[in-house]
Amino acid sequence: LVSRKKKPENTIVDIKGEKVGDGNPHLVFGPCAVESYEQVATVADAIKGKGLKLLRGGAFKPRTSPYDFQGLGIEGLKILKRIADEYDLAVISEIVSPADIETAVNYIDVIQIGARNMQNFELLKAAGAVKKPVLLKRGISATIEEFINAAEYIMAQGNGQIILCERGIRTYERATRNTLDISAVPILKQETHLPVLVDVTHSTGRRDLLLPTAKAALAIGADGVMAEVHPDPAVALSDNAQQMDLKQFDEFMKELRSSAFVK
Ligand code: PEP
Ligand code: MN
Repeated sequence: LVSRKKKPENTIVDIKGEKVGDGNPHLVFGPCAVESYEQVATVADAIKGKGLKLLRGGAFKPRTSPYDFQGLGIEGLKILKRIADEYDLAVISEIVSPADIETAVNYIDVIQIGARNMQNFELLKAAGAVKKPVLLKRGISATIEEFINAAEYIMAQGNGQIILCERGIRTYERATRNTLDISAVPILKQETHLPVLVDVTHSTGRRDLLLPTAKAALAIGADGVMAEVHPDPAVALSDNAQQMDLKQFDEFMKELRSSAFVK
């Protein structure tokens, strides 16, 4: 169902009027995790001020250590909903349990399925059973074929509003947190009709690489970019080495807009 052979024309995923896959770049920013109303509102204000529409923030955080901050859960989704309404933004948030999907759709505009859950088939089926766009991230060690099959699980349940997200894969290279598989972008665009985003934050794990990798993603044909922004990354409860602060976010957007890739 996701194959370009079955449907030659591009799928456009409409997120509150933001048409991902229409040929224009769509940019998603926001903190790694929802920590408080004030923290997310500060970032939402910056996003709004730049004329952008898409806000991300994790309420359920799949952390490597069980002792690390696990997220605010449903309370976090409620904060996102309040901010989406107040700032007229669309919100994207990761859901980790099939049992939470039905509740989550009342609060968020896009269900994110994270890298660690790309082959959680019950979660994929649950996301496929609702009428909400899904942002599906590539598994940490997933081949492109496995990634495409994961999207197929969602679409097989009747939900065709899927955005694929390349977020880096695990290799022997330690200079970056993961290795951004940039060639996955044109391959996914050729093999499927779905829009493709690149998460430059989790693929590199390095603030200094966000801008060049974002440019590379758009140059190679990605439909958009995701990056993390936090009002004070030094005190962030997760991913504090890679989130941009508001000043870097300003510069990032200025540079991207003065490049050929974003109007
Ligand atoms: C995230 O986007 O919040 C996240 C945890 O990313 P990933 O699933 O790609 O590691
Ligand atoms: Mn993160």
